[in-house]
Amino acid sequence: LSSKFDREKGVNVQVLLRCRPLSEEEMRMNTPVVISCNEHRREVSAVQNIANKQIDRTFMFDKVFGPTSKQKDLFDQAISPIVHEVLEGYNCTIFAYGQTGTGKTYTMEGGRKAKNGDFASDAGVIPRAVRQIFDTLEAQCAEYSMKVTFLELYNEEITDLLAQDESKLSDDKSKKPIALMEDGKGGVFVRGLEEEVVYTASEIYKILDKGSTKRRTAETLLNKQSSRSHSIFSITIHIKECTPEGEEMIKCGKLNLVDLAGSENISRSGARDGRAREAGEINKSLLTLGRVINALVEHSGHIPYRDSKLTRLLRDSLGGKTKTCIIATISPSIYCLEETLSTLDYAHRAK
Ligand code: ADP
Ligand code: MG
Repeated sequence: LSSKFDREKGVNVQVLLRCRPLSEEEMRMNTPVVISCNEHRREVSAVQNIANKQIDRTFMFDKVFGPTSKQKDLFDQAISPIVHEVLEGYNCTIFAYGQTGTGKTYTMEGGRKAKNGDFASDAGVIPRAVRQIFDTLEAQCAEYSMKVTFLELYNEEITDLLAQDESKLSDDKSKKPIALMEDGKGGVFVRGLEEEVVYTASEIYKILDKGSTKRRTAETLLNKQSSRSHSIFSITIHIKECTPEGEEMIKCGKLNLVDLAGSENISRSGARDGRAREAGEINKSLLTLGRVINALVEHSGHIPYRDSKLTRLLRDSLGGKTKTCIIATISPSIYCLEETLSTLDYAHRAK
């Protein structure tokens, strides 16, 4: 498997496109399909003909995964090389970007319940990445340490999905929200964020389950929707290595796995009432992310990291020697066409 990344040429952003299949419900309703994927040519076309309006657009990506693509295909062909980079000591970030209901969470998490120590075939990127990391480290008999964090960004506020303290979930205004602090050296850290040290893959799966459950609980308690929040699961690995000269070296790599807020929030920026601020903040993160990635791809001098919490948080893993992968997810349905086109445009611009 060759990675499409080329460090010499500085091509460090990869954009994948994945189209989900029609759901059973959509099939029952005979929902027209307006998207066709050509994996071989790495192209996606949106075609619709109505008497007075004709849409026929084709977009090219680094890789295209059509409706019949399997979780394993996507991981083996596109994600595994990135996990390999992390184990070589680089920081990498994988984003799922798209309209709500198009498969961001399915792609990132999928079904992760292990059967007989093996995965369900629909296990997503996160469990597969975790397994690759542990398999590789064990095969190398490497000495390593690993820690994970899991947070949610909602309305530009951070919730720690691993914190034990349940009161942090309440709306109690006397509780200080977890804060993003500058470390004075150009980096940032999250004050008060729980870091869990992990030793086995199954520990990570438990932590993921705990975090996802907490995300759902917080959702109900605070009356919010996951479609409006970003979740960031990060794994940091320190690996001890000996050079041929017998010198000890520590390699440190970090993998961020980000399930972004639904991109439909971007186009609904004109939202009225109390949702306006939320929509504005979601926009800020998604739009800034788009700008940061554009600036990185175009080797622009100024990268606007500081313009949103999402990009400040991920700063050490975006740009420079890091690898970034965006998985844009779309629906094939005619009823999603408008959002699909805006996702294709956003993702295409990031190339
Ligand atoms: P999102 O997180 O973008 O809102 P979900 O991941 O929750 O979307 O997906 C919406 C629904 O579509 C879920 O029921 C999910 O299982 C299903 N789904 C999404 N992508 C696929 C896919 N590639 N293959 C099969 N089912 C999928
Ligand atoms: Mg989701």
